[in-house]
Amino acid sequence: MDGKEMKRREFLQVSMGGAAACALSGALSATPRAAAAAAEPALLGGDPVRTASFPSWPVFEGNDEEAWRRVLDARAWFRFNGGAVSAFEEKYAELTGARHCLATANGTSALYTSLNALDVGPGDEVIVPPYTFVATINVVLLQHALPVFVDTDRASMQIDAQKIRDAITGDTRCMIPVHLGGLPADMDTILEISEETGVPVVEDACQAHMAEWRGRKVGSLGDTGCFSFQVSKNLCSGEGGAVLTDRDDIMERAFAFHTNGRAWGPGSAPTNSYNGANLRMTEFQGALLQEQMTRLEEQCQTRDRNAAHLTERLDDIPGVTPARMYEGATRNAYHLYMFRYDPEAFQGLPRNRFMQALRAEGVPSSSGYSPLYDQPFLREALYSRGYLNVYGRERIDRYFDELHCPENDQLCTEAVWFPQTMLLGSESDMDDIADAIEKIHAHAEALKEG
Ligand SMILES: *Cc1c(COP(=O)(O)O)cnc(C)c1O
Repeated sequence: MDGKEMKRREFLQVSMGGAAACALSGALSATPRAAAAAAEPALLGGDPVRTASFPSWPVFEGNDEEAWRRVLDARAWFRFNGGAVSAFEEKYAELTGARHCLATANGTSALYTSLNALDVGPGDEVIVPPYTFVATINVVLLQHALPVFVDTDRASMQIDAQKIRDAITGDTRCMIPVHLGGLPADMDTILEISEETGVPVVEDACQAHMAEWRGRKVGSLGDTGCFSFQVSKNLCSGEGGAVLTDRDDIMERAFAFHTNGRAWGPGSAPTNSYNGANLRMTEFQGALLQEQMTRLEEQCQTRDRNAAHLTERLDDIPGVTPARMYEGATRNAYHLYMFRYDPEAFQGLPRNRFMQALRAEGVPSSSGYSPLYDQPFLREALYSRGYLNVYGRERIDRYFDELHCPENDQLCTEAVWFPQTMLLGSESDMDDIADAIEKIHAHAEALKEG
């Protein structure tokens, strides 16, 4: 492109931006929003909507430090000679309304423990969503069971519960709905299918602390519910996890499995009645989590409030559609604020370019998951010696032939996420996000060219 052509392009961009801004200010009559939309996009050399960073994470105060100090001083760093882990278990069970809580080393081990407690093994099928963190699938592979993907409901970004029934066979041993991003999956349908078929439910609530379905905490509705306290999660201790269950028989097996077969019960001696692993939480995690819990409800309320404001603002912008909550979902944990981006409404501006422009305005975002079933790990696992021994090559070939999740394929091209930490600030942070998107919308044509 020569100098003259460059000039002409710049002129076109400025004049087209101006025309769009006129149209906007006509509609919104010189509000600050219209002013933001009129300004030159930061990606094309204008001033960004914001330069401040969003709230940092994790957070701690004096109480967290003191709790760590107490564990150090007591020299009781292991759950069977200190009381912090069991105190946390009691508090978390009370908070969630579950009868039992078992703390684990992390969320992956909470899921792993659940599948072992339910005796999922080689030859079994486990229903899973494709739109999830890879750990949900990895724990199924650890059992040499087959992960059976049920397509995504694009509107909610959760497993399409209406399609679960058709995926159940005589070999289905359990199902793992995920409350992705903190938005509850359709638990009415899932629990009804479980009731009807006898297939137990392991809720993956690793992103859904405090989320509710018809007023009950998610994670307390299935046969087990699994949480992660990894550092990015809404309640965190660096690493950590928990299994919730109302069933004594599951708790007994889960407890034993997570600590090399030691029997569950107060003051029980190590009896090795079962086999198992070591997936225990440390006293440091147990102590820290109790302190982190003291601000959990307040943080949830802040996210609720900010998310509601952001959704209200985004409702006015064509081409951005926040993930829909089911009628029974009475509280969203907003681990992620998720929406679908439609380039058609942005003059064909591709998602990556949209996100790049958003980043330039001072608003970071993520494009979320890519289709898990296309990743090499799945073929690697299912064509491994162990799997071929159990299922045979023909069965595995058929598995891949039948693997189609078109709705999920589509969602992976259109999703955009904001992490939970961005919702912990002020209402004006939300206005910045919406202003930035409005600005990009108004200048989409120029951004496409630029
Ligand atoms: C974080 C997460 C896990 C795993 O938790 P870790 O604590 O990282 O092991 C499992 N499932 C989902 C949906 C998650 O987000």
